Amino acid sequence: MARRPKSDLELPQERFWETKSLAQMSRSEWESLCDGCGKCCLLKLEDADTGETYFTDVACKLLDAETCRCSDYARRKIFVPDCIVLTPETLDQVAHWLPPTCAYRLLSEGRPLYDWHPLLSGEANSVHRAGASCSHRVISEDDIADEALPERIVDWANVDPGA
Ligand code: SF4
Ligand code: SF4
Repeated sequence: MARRPKSDLELPQERFWETKSLAQMSRSEWESLCDGCGKCCLLKLEDADTGETYFTDVACKLLDAETCRCSDYARRKIFVPDCIVLTPETLDQVAHWLPPTCAYRLLSEGRPLYDWHPLLSGEANSVHRAGASCSHRVISEDDIADEALPERIVDWANVDPGA
């Protein structure tokens, strides 16, 4: 006997991300592209000479380290003024600060989404189960001095499984 797969998300009727450009998407389509990995909320270091970006396992103080969601999204700019709102207009400026698995970055590079993306799996948790998020892997910036950041550089946040 076949059973319906469990799904906690309403899957879209059409794969809009395959037919529309990022700029053509509605606000809700754009928002649904975020897989909730939380890796864009990790502190990063940039090599001043090469411009290379290094991810750390130190998270923004507002990031919930379990769910990987911003704990105060509506008021985040009050507490974290340099939090950048991702839009089709800002994407180009910040793409190199996004992990290679980020849906916005993948689509802007003409690449497909990974099969654990909630839009394909129908489950918000699939990103965590696939080990593609920062859930339970990070500490808060409130718990570490800035000088110690270089010791917190990690590879896992900047890995591209499809490369
Ligand atoms: S890195 Fe991209 S997909 Fe992951 S939480 Fe940030 S915006 Fe969403
Ligand atoms: S303020 Fe919220 S959305 Fe912005 S970096 Fe911090 S946790 Fe992420």
